[in-house]
Amino acid sequence: MTSRPSRTDPIASTARPDRVLRGLVAAFLVISAAAFGCYELLPAGQMASWAVLGIAALAAVVVGVMRHKPDPALPWVLLGVSLAIEIIADLVYQSLGGSIGGDGPFPSAADAIYVAVYPVMIYALLGFVRRDPPEYSRGTLLDVLIVAVGFGALSWGVFSVPVTPLPQLSVLAMTILFAYLLGDPLVFALTLQLPLSGRLRSWPVWLLLLGALGSLYSDTYFALTELHPDWPSAPGEIIGYAAFYITWGLAALLPAMAKVVQPPAGRPWALVAPRTWIALLCCAALISPVLLLVNAYRSTPRDTQVLVGCCITIFLLVFARLVQAMRAWQRTSLRREAQAYLHTLIADAQDSIIVASPRGEVRFSSHSAQRLFGARLGRGPVSGLFTGGDRDRVAHCFDELDDDPHAAPRWPTAVHVRSADERIVRAEARWSDLREDPAVRGIALTLRDVTEERRLEDELRKQALTDPLTGLMNRQALQLLMLRDQNAAAEDPGAGGLLMIDLDDFKEVNDTLGHPIGDEVLVAFAGRILEHVRAEDAVARLGGDEFAVLMAHRSDPSMLEAVAQRLGEAFDEPLETSAGPLRVAASLGLVAFGPAAYPETPDEAQAQEADRDTDPDALMRAADLAMYAAKAEGKHRWRRYHAGLLDQAVRRSELRAALDETLAQGALAVWYQPIVHLDTRQVFGFEALVRWPHPTLGLLGPDVFIPLAEETGQILELGRQVLRIAAKQAVAWSALRPVPGCSINVNVSVRQLREEGFVEAVRDVVAEVGIEPRHLVLEVTETALLDHDDVEVRERLQHLRDLGVAIALDDFGTGYASLISLHDMPIDIIKVDKSFTSRLTTSDRMRRLVRGLLAIGEAMGIHTMAEGVESWEQHEQLLALGTRAGQGFLYGRPLTPADASTVWVAHRPLPVEDPRTSPDA
Ligand code: C2E
Ligand code: CA
Ligand code: CA
Repeated sequence: MTSRPSRTDPIASTARPDRVLRGLVAAFLVISAAAFGCYELLPAGQMASWAVLGIAALAAVVVGVMRHKPDPALPWVLLGVSLAIEIIADLVYQSLGGSIGGDGPFPSAADAIYVAVYPVMIYALLGFVRRDPPEYSRGTLLDVLIVAVGFGALSWGVFSVPVTPLPQLSVLAMTILFAYLLGDPLVFALTLQLPLSGRLRSWPVWLLLLGALGSLYSDTYFALTELHPDWPSAPGEIIGYAAFYITWGLAALLPAMAKVVQPPAGRPWALVAPRTWIALLCCAALISPVLLLVNAYRSTPRDTQVLVGCCITIFLLVFARLVQAMRAWQRTSLRREAQAYLHTLIADAQDSIIVASPRGEVRFSSHSAQRLFGARLGRGPVSGLFTGGDRDRVAHCFDELDDDPHAAPRWPTAVHVRSADERIVRAEARWSDLREDPAVRGIALTLRDVTEERRLEDELRKQALTDPLTGLMNRQALQLLMLRDQNAAAEDPGAGGLLMIDLDDFKEVNDTLGHPIGDEVLVAFAGRILEHVRAEDAVARLGGDEFAVLMAHRSDPSMLEAVAQRLGEAFDEPLETSAGPLRVAASLGLVAFGPAAYPETPDEAQAQEADRDTDPDALMRAADLAMYAAKAEGKHRWRRYHAGLLDQAVRRSELRAALDETLAQGALAVWYQPIVHLDTRQVFGFEALVRWPHPTLGLLGPDVFIPLAEETGQILELGRQVLRIAAKQAVAWSALRPVPGCSINVNVSVRQLREEGFVEAVRDVVAEVGIEPRHLVLEVTETALLDHDDVEVRERLQHLRDLGVAIALDDFGTGYASLISLHDMPIDIIKVDKSFTSRLTTSDRMRRLVRGLLAIGEAMGIHTMAEGVESWEQHEQLLALGTRAGQGFLYGRPLTPADASTVWVAHRPLPVEDPRTSPDA
């Protein structure tokens, strides 16, 4: 990875100091120049001028630190301290009679202070590079020291610095001179470290270096002239010292001073090519030993101690450098290995890995990415790998990054990419912003191909949401859809309807034609529904023979009702099955939802209140209720939901529970309605009519609970109980009037007839109670018999007749049995319905019909009786027509067992008051 060129040029940005700063810099330069000028021109004020020069530099450092707040501040603060010490030393030196850059007492107290500056300065300069990467900074420092010591040894000889104390100099003076000769080069070397470590584009660095150079020059010259009094005094020695103050002060004033304490952005600056550098180091290290060797051949060896000291120092430095280099090498090789390992891992990864530059160009790709995208990878930006919307989204994210390096774009995660073979691949994308990571410096993208996974998921979801038989949605799918609509409705309350469709008597189809045909019917039925709804309506099979149609976006309730109507009619057309055309009717329940029609009646307003509820469960319940209402009203129709239905449903479930209890207690009541011979009007039997003494609602008639009992199956137990009670009663009455005994009519519902073991149950009751079978008449309704052209029912009826029990066809005339089909009915008695009886006196046609019926019956050995006889005229009419028996309010209403007993025992013609003899007649 190459380092990015830093966008902000330290000089460019820092060379534009604000106005105050510019003023400060100008003031500093003017003051410094003025002070220097005064020092040169006004010998009287030299001490003060020089002090001003030093203090100006010190002030510049203080201001610089406070203004630019370097972090860490310590190196700069210490530089300031070293300046302060220097100023004090200068003052002391001058007060002792010395002049800067000129003659003065040596050694003096001032020298001690001057020497004290070095440790502070060295510590300060080391502080500047403390935070640098150690592998660079330490190596650079050691290199510089090696060179310094090496060439220092040479210069020692060149400048012929004596080692043994000179006669004119004390040991202390010599030591101080040596301190100058070693200290200044060291400070210079450490300052040189700053640009070498990579701090190249920084004015303060170069200013510091310039100052250190000035100081080096002047101090060295000073020391040498002390050692060699015959040497001329240094040219411009004063300039070196002045430069030191001015450059360091100015360096601290510039804003870039804060950057000097920070690790440099780039690598260390290679002054020369690495090989040249090594050669230079080698030469530097060899200088001292070579000079030692030269010494060996000299008659008077010079500087031996110094050269040995240099050799040892260089040896130690080179050794330290070696250790440092080894450590650095270890570190880099470890990192290289790790990188290579990672690279292999990435390259071989299953997932496709792509590294993009912050601008979005592909910079690296793993093998699997290359396999996936092929040549596409080479072309253009990363976004080009994605399809349509994803491409734009990715491109947009990179744009965001480009505009603002700190942006955190929302990268798309579930994406579609276009593979080399132009396939659309569904992938899971992970994006890692590794721009700050020096090993990556980009955006890493990992793509996992999830096409197959998603396909399977879709498949499974489809499986879970589809009805396998019809291919329609199933219940869960419909509920999900409704939930989605409900959520959407929060913003946009749409209107629509839910239609619940239940086949009528589908069980029969299954039972009689078998399940395969049943399945065919369901499939054909589903097709029929689909033909009559719009494409956007959702059709579901909820299970069994129950279907639903969700009609969204139909705000007009009359439209919904039209659909219900149309569908109901569509089911009248027979369905094609392999067993031939079959007519299967259905009951439909409709519920509308959303802000539908405007209510016209309070009832409707209430209904709409419920309709507005779009909760899927509530809607389904409502549609169900409506559908049950349609069933209860005789099936093969549609009903719309209204709030009343809910009450009904609640009432029904309460009734059902109560009936259960009554049945368990055997607390049903049976009332008896007399059946008379029309000619004598004397009772020969009764019809047993069930009554329910309800704990809170009082005595309930069968109309209230028989349909419910039929629906719930309670009718079976109810029927058994009534049969036993009635039969027992008949036996009791027969005992009172043995000839010809009391016959008893008991109503039997179709459901009882269809129950397996019904014949046996009747036989058991007959045996248990001891009733003569011929006294027992079972009434079955005509509709029940004919509607279900049921072989089993017929056989059962035949078996009952074989027992000696009589079968009566109840409510004759209300169904659509043709007279012709009567002859193969296993029946003994026809009970002509009330509706006929009531019209006998007004309609000739009805009279002819009953007469014809009587004739046919007579021919087939079937007796005919009339029910619902309410008037004397009807009685006479029936008598004239030749009807033998009758039942109706004229002869007696249903009576309690006690009242019926009284009637039976009295044995008088009914009505007791003969209308012809009564005063009212
Ligand atoms: P249904 O079998 O036709 O019974 C005769 C019904 O007609 C009785 O009503 C009776 O009160 C009424 N009725 C009798 N004479 C006249 C008359 O002159 N004029 C008028 N308008 N009505 C007359 P109820 O007792 O309410 O019974 C209603 C229906 O309940 C019965 O009709 C029968 O189908 C059913 N039912 C009654 N008891 C039982 C039972 O124990 N088991 C079964 N499965 N059904 C029963
Ligand atoms: Ca009846
Ligand atoms: Ca009847």
